[in-house]
Amino acid sequence: MNPRELGEFGLIEAIRRRAAQAHPGWRVTIGDDAAVFKSRPGEELVATTDAVVEDVHFHWRTTDPRSLGHKALAVNLSDVGAMGARPVGFLLTLGFPPQIAEARLDGFFAGLLRLARASRCPLVGGDIVRSPAFTASLTAFGAVAAGRALLRSGARPGERLMVTGELGGAAAGLRLLEGPGVRTAQERALARRQNAPSPPWRAGAALVGARLSRAAIDVSDGLAQDLGHLVRESGVGARVALESLPFARGLERAAARLRLDPLALALSGGEDYELLFTVARRGPSAAALARRLQCRVTEIGAITATRGIAFTRAGRPYQPREAGFQHFKASPRRSEK
Ligand code: ADP
Ligand code: MG
Repeated sequence: MNPRELGEFGLIEAIRRRAAQAHPGWRVTIGDDAAVFKSRPGEELVATTDAVVEDVHFHWRTTDPRSLGHKALAVNLSDVGAMGARPVGFLLTLGFPPQIAEARLDGFFAGLLRLARASRCPLVGGDIVRSPAFTASLTAFGAVAAGRALLRSGARPGERLMVTGELGGAAAGLRLLEGPGVRTAQERALARRQNAPSPPWRAGAALVGARLSRAAIDVSDGLAQDLGHLVRESGVGARVALESLPFARGLERAAARLRLDPLALALSGGEDYELLFTVARRGPSAAALARRLQCRVTEIGAITATRGIAFTRAGRPYQPREAGFQHFKASPRRSEK
């Protein structure tokens, strides 16, 4: 797609053709003043938005357009899933300089729309603006049974704490890309976790469907920080056994090469987009949950009535170095996001 040849309306037409896919629930999509969704009785609508901006969230030097398109939707699916909702569709505001290389737009849409089809989450509208930096701002919608959304405020003392997938891989991948470079197949897999994450976006809706959980958050800023949000909003605390954390495959080896602490990457590296959730004390085991959610699930601790997070290592209290990333907060690790 060449915006200089197509002009704004030609470009919208081209997007509309490429974005064609089944769109259950939508009566009107791209082409009118707004899209129209017919919600089902007994369901609530979930809305979330997340932007990726060139040289803030990514550099063209270390990512490819296809991965970027995939990631732009993946991070929104992660938020929809973390509410326990199934994705239903999304809007896209796209900003780019007029001289943008055609291959960047084509690759971006290829990655974006591939995931849109795989997740049955159609592109139903958007906007195009001129911008000095490539920017993709997505607003995604989901649907969840009324009153059943997984909330940060939903955790109760005694519940067990579970996390899907693996931690620390995306952060290690980013540091490899920005530092010494990616050499082995294992390091390439870590870089992929950074550039093209695959959040378990179906897991939240499966938990709601089976009435197994009331509380979840997606791990986007690091486990320590995101668990902090969950316990604060719920007015509870948590204990976490650090030796139980599911380190990403190849994390320890990569951390050694980077001269970083793998535990710090797993706890506060960020961008893993895994799902952190609670289940009842007598609820299913991690193995049973893994079968039901069709992804790896690890029990890492429990919710406590005492506020704050108590980390233990081999049964002893342990205070890891703090914090995930925050925009606008002065930090020597600015390049993290
Ligand atoms: P308006 O001036 O009414 O905002 P636009 O000309 O901006 O209309 O958009 C025309 C149609 O194309 C709308 O349905 C809009 O949702 C859709 N559209 C515009 N930009 C995008 C985009 N980047 N992705 C998907 N749909 C888009
Ligand atoms: Mg418009």
